[in-house]
Amino acid sequence: MYRTHTCGELRIEDVGQEVTLSGWVQRIRDLGGMSFIDLRDRYGITQIVANEGTSEKVVTTLSKIGREFVIQVNGVVKERSSKNKNIPTGEIEIEIKGLTILSKASLPPFTIKDDTDGGDELRMKYRYLDLRRKVVQENLILRAKMAHTTRSYLNSQEFIETETPVLINSTPEGARDFIVPSRINPGKFYALPQSPQVFKQLLMIAGFDRYYQIVKCFRDEDLRADRQPEFTQIDCEMSFVEQEDILDTFEGLTKHLFKEIKGIEVTEFPRIPYSEAIEKYGSDKPDTRFDMLIHELTGIAKGNGFVVFDSADYIGGICAQGCAGYSRKQLDQLANWVKRPQIGAKGLIYVKYNTDGSFKSSVDKFYSQDDLKKWAEKFNARPGDLLLVMSGNDSHTLKALGELRLKMGGQLNLRNNNEFKPLWVIDFPLLEWDKESGRYHAMHHPFTSPKPEDIPLLDSAPEKVRANAYDLVINGVEIGGGSVRIFDSALQAKMFGKLGFTTEQAQAQFGFLMNAFKYGAPPHAGIAFGFDRLVSLFAGLDSIRDVIAFPKNNAGRDVMIDSPSEVTKEQLDELGLRIIQKED
Ligand code: ASP
Repeated sequence: MYRTHTCGELRIEDVGQEVTLSGWVQRIRDLGGMSFIDLRDRYGITQIVANEGTSEKVVTTLSKIGREFVIQVNGVVKERSSKNKNIPTGEIEIEIKGLTILSKASLPPFTIKDDTDGGDELRMKYRYLDLRRKVVQENLILRAKMAHTTRSYLNSQEFIETETPVLINSTPEGARDFIVPSRINPGKFYALPQSPQVFKQLLMIAGFDRYYQIVKCFRDEDLRADRQPEFTQIDCEMSFVEQEDILDTFEGLTKHLFKEIKGIEVTEFPRIPYSEAIEKYGSDKPDTRFDMLIHELTGIAKGNGFVVFDSADYIGGICAQGCAGYSRKQLDQLANWVKRPQIGAKGLIYVKYNTDGSFKSSVDKFYSQDDLKKWAEKFNARPGDLLLVMSGNDSHTLKALGELRLKMGGQLNLRNNNEFKPLWVIDFPLLEWDKESGRYHAMHHPFTSPKPEDIPLLDSAPEKVRANAYDLVINGVEIGGGSVRIFDSALQAKMFGKLGFTTEQAQAQFGFLMNAFKYGAPPHAGIAFGFDRLVSLFAGLDSIRDVIAFPKNNAGRDVMIDSPSEVTKEQLDELGLRIIQKED
């Protein structure tokens, strides 16, 4: 038997028991006549002590062990003379009687403790060592708990967990596909699912009524902190439901997770239309933990001879409370920040609403104190506040203002990680114009139903058509999104037409789905939550990488297994593939 107890288990009540523990050596302290070993496993740390009474044999073995050796210890549980209140086993120690080295360890490339000295790259290369750290393990334990809680909630609501295939064809979710060549079908390729979208709809046609799956999806996109080429969704679909039913059910799941996992009652799930989110927050995933809403000044700020504003489609700004005292340097920093290519603004105008009621702005030449007062009124600003104003093309300016709002919210500590503010963004546009390809793209995906009252606009003003689509946003993070689906083959065919598919192309790619609609399709709707994002939100982390056991780096590489990698010439031959040009 390797162990009678784990390293997190023994307490003062166990004093006097003879026990066997196995684990990793976290630390050894040799104090002359006495040595201490911190023995670690997933469950905790137990102190092992050797003293004058320890046998010669054990002392010899002890002299050979080092950090991260795997050892088995047997001994008697004793009360510690100096107790450690910080750990649950801190009142006891094991007086060692027997010691076996189960496995030696080379010196790890970084120290395995919460505040490790290992940099990102090193930790990822030795991820199995990084995963020994408690902080990292806790994130993955949280993830497992959340998956379990999700399953039990959805099971209790009659959802059927169903697996769908991984080797499929393209599912249009707006990203590039990962493709896999088929050896036995020369010249043919599978695509990895960007989502199980079409399969879950087919399951509804099959009469499953309620489906879910916690499932890996694959999207070949440029990576950011909250993106991975493979990621996990809680994917769901329901039949005979309307938008409201989906929002209700998944508010239910979200509340349940907050309650069960974090002990927090989240009650309010306000809804705002997409257009309002953009107008007020400059984003379709607003962080509503703080106000600082965007206000438009186009009507009142034009016509004073300030050419930047006079030539702009849109003028608007935010009000940073209590920031009128910002120095020249602070204001310059903000202006430089918005001019970075990521934000792409041309400049930033400021108006200080001084505590004495006067105004000082970067456009004093063009605007009187009265003019600026009118601006301040628009923002409900008070003396001591700072207005930050931008202008230009409306969608770009709103987006830049949205980014600036988040930056200021962060700077003013208004984005507290222990506060959770969910909301639904609804009424997304069905289509968006893509300049590059010169055609409309589905904003959600091509299976999303237009609002019935907007269907007549499909021909006359496609960009005005609103979709029955919704996103769940928490603290500025898009946690989930979904839509009511088209379940009529004629409307689906029309939609493909709007997206620039010829009838033949639509038939070739999605004929199976449109055909399935002909055999009795129930009205259906669904949603998918980004599980990695949800877990990182619960863990209070900014990056999803920390909640994934073996994540990829920003270049989409797994540096531990060195993937992606080259394949042999034989493999390529077998697949009928040839590399024409290799990029170095
Ligand atoms: N398949 C969608 C997505 O991956 C979610 C849905 O519409 O249910 O975003």
